[in-house]
Amino acid sequence: MGACGAVNPAQALNVTRLASICAAVAGGNGHISKDPRRARLMQPHIRTQLQIIPRDQHNVSRRDISPNALRVLYRLREGGFDAFLVGGAVRDLLIGGHPKDFDVATNATPEEVRGLFRNCRLIGRRFRLAHVVYGREIIEVATFRANSDDGSGDRELHEGGRVLRDNVYGSIEDDAVRRDFTANALYYAIEDFSVRDYTGGFEDVRNRLMRLIGDPETRYREDPVRMLRAVRLAAKLDFEIETATAKPIPQLAPLLREAAPARLFEECLKLFLSGHAVKSFIGLERHGLLPALLPETAAALKSNRSGALRSMVLEGLKGTDTRVANDEPVSPAFLFALLLWPAYCRSLITLQAQGVHAAEAQRRAADRVTVHQLETIALPRRFSLPMQEIWLLQSRFSQRQRKRVFRTLAHPRFRAAFDFLNLRLAASDEHADDVAFWREAQSDPAHALAVDADAHRDESNEEGEAPRKRRRRRRKTGNGGE
Ligand code: ATP
Ligand code: MG
Repeated sequence: MGACGAVNPAQALNVTRLASICAAVAGGNGHISKDPRRARLMQPHIRTQLQIIPRDQHNVSRRDISPNALRVLYRLREGGFDAFLVGGAVRDLLIGGHPKDFDVATNATPEEVRGLFRNCRLIGRRFRLAHVVYGREIIEVATFRANSDDGSGDRELHEGGRVLRDNVYGSIEDDAVRRDFTANALYYAIEDFSVRDYTGGFEDVRNRLMRLIGDPETRYREDPVRMLRAVRLAAKLDFEIETATAKPIPQLAPLLREAAPARLFEECLKLFLSGHAVKSFIGLERHGLLPALLPETAAALKSNRSGALRSMVLEGLKGTDTRVANDEPVSPAFLFALLLWPAYCRSLITLQAQGVHAAEAQRRAADRVTVHQLETIALPRRFSLPMQEIWLLQSRFSQRQRKRVFRTLAHPRFRAAFDFLNLRLAASDEHADDVAFWREAQSDPAHALAVDADAHRDESNEEGEAPRKRRRRRRKTGNGGE
């Protein structure tokens, strides 16, 4: 059987049901008002068709599920509740991957879940969730929830269609259709080990497609971060974004500016520090999301005709992917130094053209780029400061005076800045000399300095030049002060 066993329609149980999905008022300019009013919801229905894929027709095996997640599923079932593994874990298992976390969905309320587990705490203000804690592993248990406003819940929508609060429990069908992509809405049932599919996700996983559930534009307006999730998950899983799901993205991309900057920071880490950074970056470019996420970098890349800066960014992201694949540490400071380097260079050139002195221009460019980027992505100071240091150290690499060399070597950010210098080679071979010098300087600074001094002497000899003599200025002959 392949990674996703084919469903035999004769065996699969098909039940057609109606589940409600919120269609937020499409249109609107997505402007955030200070006093979000409770919007009236239209509730068109999404037709769901339950397809039960029996155990012998899929490859999700208990052997690949975390024992703690299994414990939670069994305990819920023994307590008389429905219990399913859900979301990314089912999707990843179907394509033969290794989920990094296991989420559980149930019809038990959070309080009922707490009643079953001693090691359980309830979290979340917007939506109560149960966390069952096993040492460092946390199994998240969510009660089925709906996106519909049936009057019993507590749901608020912003005029532009963005979901502000979301506190309605629902049926499993409701829970399925409020999820983002069909591939993320599959339920593995502990009672019979089948996979329950309400939205066609099983087929989409088999065809490696990211498809939004419901009307794409409405779903992006509810939560613009879904546009990034489409690109990220397609990159991570090697999926295509289905045509209708991809279509509205370039036009709606500016809505991302309204997303919470802290959430966008988290999303960036997932996009670029999970081992698929190159594919993520290319996906963001292709779907017109780069200008919304990294506006100044996007502008700088556009105006860099040679494409050298883009090559450097891609080279750096490739290195990041290799490090992740080798289980080596990766730092957000280095990542953002790379992603924002084109913006920094552009700002620096502008300031210098205005006559600002080099050192001052570097400081100001670093600050400008950081402050501007913070409007979109909440880069914490513990990362933005070392990011700026990496930039500012670049100009120190051309300074070879003994004292300065030792000072640069002792800088806590030297190693990262030197790695960054190496990357700049991808954009310009101008830096080959500096790279060679500082590589040597790390192991034997005194020797590097001596060799460097010799090299400069040799250079003039090689070209057969006599040491330059100072030219004397010819004195003007005074001829009447003309
Ligand atoms: P990853 O492998 O990166 O963890 P994931 O799909 O598991 O991917 P999570 O952020 O862990 O992503 O979310 C878990 C599940 O919650 C998703 O599979 C999806 O069903 C649902 N979900 C997450 N974010 C959204 C969203 N913005 N809108 C609707 N459903 C969402
Ligand atoms: Mg997940």
